[in-house]
Amino acid sequence: MRKLLIMANWKMNKTAGEAVAFFDSLPALPAEVDTAVFAPLTALDALSKAPLAGVGLGAQNFHPAAAGAFTGEVSLAMLAPFGVRYVLTGHSERRDLFKESDAFVAEKYWAAADYGMMPVLCVGESMAIREAGGAEAHTRAQLDAVFGDMTGRVLPKEVIIAYEPIWAIGTGLTATAEDAEAMCASLRAHLADRLGKDVAAQARILYGGSVKPDNCAALFAQENIDGGLIGGASLEPASFAALVEKG
Ligand code: PEP
Repeated sequence: MRKLLIMANWKMNKTAGEAVAFFDSLPALPAEVDTAVFAPLTALDALSKAPLAGVGLGAQNFHPAAAGAFTGEVSLAMLAPFGVRYVLTGHSERRDLFKESDAFVAEKYWAAADYGMMPVLCVGESMAIREAGGAEAHTRAQLDAVFGDMTGRVLPKEVIIAYEPIWAIGTGLTATAEDAEAMCASLRAHLADRLGKDVAAQARILYGGSVKPDNCAALFAQENIDGGLIGGASLEPASFAALVEKG
């Protein structure tokens, strides 16, 4: 039985003070649900000293190299002292706006795994790909870019995938629970082919894309959807708590 996992992606929102204020007014969360927040880098120091009530800390971005001439970037070793456990890899905004390729996403994923952090691998198709009937092939190829060649690879403690159709992110359009379940089931079947049945059965596959307190219950009730990666609706403490409560 996989435990529900609700992850907040705050994107470029909240100063350090606002991030701490979020936790100051967050109601107690049920222990049956795992939770995490991907906070902006500038809030990590303050959050590392704040009581997070069991909510795990994640970073939205990092560079896979250990150190070097990468102006503006931060390494995993720079994030670790703040208690960062999770890192996002392959978010569509990083892929589209910052031109992160499949190969670079894979480099980031394995750098995080090797460092002992838990990378969350985001995959998802555009509306054009969906309408052309290519959603499954596209997202399976995104998995293959990371898991296609496992020679010498050691998986992170937990495999976490976020299925996020690009057309649903921040648009108010949500995939139907049935469509999201079909995609997550397809991704799990592909993980079984690549990583084996046991790993696939234990992997948590999240749905992301305009998840809100009023539409999350149907999504989270699906057999192959193990929680959500949530942007807009995770910014307010009451809304985040409601997502966790309804899960
Ligand atoms: C996201 O950024 O990962 C996301 C799913 O955003 P939203 O919930 O706002 O669509």
